[in-house]
Amino acid sequence: MNTVNDKQRIDELRAKLDYYNHKYYVENSPEIEDYRFDMLLRELQDLEALHPELFDPNSPTQRVGSDITSEFRSVEHSFPMLSLANTYSLDELHEWADRIEREIGEVEYVCELKFDGTAISLAYRDGALLRAVTRGDGEKGDDVTANVRTIRSVPLHLRGDDYPSYFEIRGEIFMPYASFDRLNAEREAAGEPLLANPRNAAAGTLKQLSSQVVARRGLDCTLYQLAGDALPSASHWGNMAKAREWGFKISDNMRVCRNIAQIDEYIAHWDTERKRLPFPTDGVVVKVNRYDDRRKLGSTAKAPRWAVAYKFKAERAATRLLSIDFQVGRTGAVTPVANLAPVLLAGTTVKRATLHNAEQIAQLDIRIGDTVYVEKGGEIIPKITEVDLAERPADSRPFEYIDRCPECGTPLVRFEGEAKHYCPNQSGCRPQILGRIEHFVSRKAMNIEGLGDETVELLWQNDMLHDIADIYTLHAERLAALPRLGEKSAANILRNISSSREVPFARVLFALGIRFVGETTAKYLAAHFRSLDAIMAADRDTLAEADEVGERIAEAIVEYFADTANRDIVERLRRAGLQFESEAAELASDVLAGRSFVISGKFASHSREEMKALVESHGGRNLAAVSANVDYLVAGEKMGPAKLQKAQKLGVAIISEEEFMEMIGGAGCSAPHLSHELVPQQDEAETPQQGTLF
Ligand code: NAD
Repeated sequence: MNTVNDKQRIDELRAKLDYYNHKYYVENSPEIEDYRFDMLLRELQDLEALHPELFDPNSPTQRVGSDITSEFRSVEHSFPMLSLANTYSLDELHEWADRIEREIGEVEYVCELKFDGTAISLAYRDGALLRAVTRGDGEKGDDVTANVRTIRSVPLHLRGDDYPSYFEIRGEIFMPYASFDRLNAEREAAGEPLLANPRNAAAGTLKQLSSQVVARRGLDCTLYQLAGDALPSASHWGNMAKAREWGFKISDNMRVCRNIAQIDEYIAHWDTERKRLPFPTDGVVVKVNRYDDRRKLGSTAKAPRWAVAYKFKAERAATRLLSIDFQVGRTGAVTPVANLAPVLLAGTTVKRATLHNAEQIAQLDIRIGDTVYVEKGGEIIPKITEVDLAERPADSRPFEYIDRCPECGTPLVRFEGEAKHYCPNQSGCRPQILGRIEHFVSRKAMNIEGLGDETVELLWQNDMLHDIADIYTLHAERLAALPRLGEKSAANILRNISSSREVPFARVLFALGIRFVGETTAKYLAAHFRSLDAIMAADRDTLAEADEVGERIAEAIVEYFADTANRDIVERLRRAGLQFESEAAELASDVLAGRSFVISGKFASHSREEMKALVESHGGRNLAAVSANVDYLVAGEKMGPAKLQKAQKLGVAIISEEEFMEMIGGAGCSAPHLSHELVPQQDEAETPQQGTLF
């Protein structure tokens, strides 16, 4: 044992792990893989065990990694919210179970999926959601109630009447793959950097300052732990069954296991089956079922002794890096892509992997000819995570990133604060020109069928299409004369081009392809300014007055219209007869899409009719009477008590005028003001003091 060296290594590991924790929990942008993080933590644990004299209560081995940020109010948990001990080894899992059985004899376990999202604690008082708090440092966390209220699987009011008057329920907020893919497709269309994986996307979304953004992102929430003083059952299984009756979303994939063989079976089953699930999981959690057994086992400062997470290793494979290509997107962003010797990974043959940007290549020191590890974790596109240095050819040289556009030779530029390189030659660089036209005609933009990627390229090669405005100058004869087209398809294309003149203004604005102006931002801009002329005349500050438009977007819009080539295109589109103004009936937003409302009583700042019009203009539906089909009852003053009672009985969420206004874009991040008569305020003195769990 070399104490001096060990001390040095301990200090180094503590500093490194603190740094990685911050990147992971606060910035939601991890720099290393989970497995490597866990191995470093394990190394620190082993060294600290050898040197009890160097114990430090602030060491990352002793503390729950904290997600606390300064933007949210910090709230104390009534019952501590711990992490879980984890292992990647079945042998270690067996040792854990052996230890437990030695200590308390025969034991019942519950096996569950480990959802890969971010932990949340929901507090309920008298059956109504009171607060939603992140895990934070385990003792206190960020109050994200306004955001969590927008998640439809979180009940705002409980069913039945046998729930404790106050309790907390813990679970995971996660992003299903479908929402993640949609979000990244939107970001790509708006020229924004893609999110790394669904876990970071879920954690980042939950910390958004605008609950409207959260509402649109399709988060989901599953619950897996009740915490309180007067719980209905003496077992975890029993409590979860009750929570399901109260209206919580509890996984159907939990199993009671009575021995290690059954646990192994559960793990083996889900190791493959989980790939078919529509949401991300990263392991299995094994918990002791009975609370009296849990109490005997107790907890460390960081995790309970009665539960352990068995984590699945992300699937990875080693292969050779043959070359690196560069793709140029419609915004000019350059993305390096690795060409690999084909290798089988998670059931598919992988030949290409993303490398993101120059920094990532430099950080991993990736070189052509290297043997690299490719991983497919939660993310769909495989990525390179490590280089096998032992296999590096002797004559290999560091990779030199390109400094000129691979398509047009223009020197690349890098904008401040962005990792990617850009080709600034917007009007002369082939993939940028074609990319902008392809975006313009795409389904969610002008929806011009018949102008697929190949046809666009053909028209460009034949000098008939140089920019988006040229689309409206195409002639039937010249089109029909092109190879592969003919009269019939030419006529079809022209008919579709003609009908695109009816496409509403918000979509025209999206179709222009202004950097960062995605589908949703375009809708907000259209609703706020109502015409393209008003947007073109606005300065940065005026633009930023519209919902969802931050500095960066405002800047991009100003830049776009400052360019004379763009102004010229816009004028030609105007002459072609495109919609440059919002129609009165155009939706202000779609934040209420799919939700139904009953508006009842008198309101302070709007008439009942105005409230109903607001529901519709934000994509919601008005219903006349309270029924199980209603999502929200917006309760004004002097509302009939029968309606209120019926809504409470059916578990319909009852919200005030202020809360409704906040849903459609009012006060942003602040927690909704709950009207006193509907949801009792928490009395601190009544908060339960000592929890038995978690
Ligand atoms: P964890 O994610 O390994 O496990 C605990 C969490 O699991 C709980 O807080 C809960 O949110 C979640 N969970 C999901 N399903 C559950 C279920 N059915 N029952 C109970 N809990 C369930 O622990 P952690 O403390 O959140 O994070 C530690 C992990 O985070 C490490 O294993 C590491 O892989 C990763 N991490 C990575 C980095 C990095 O830089 N890559 C940095 C810090 C942490």
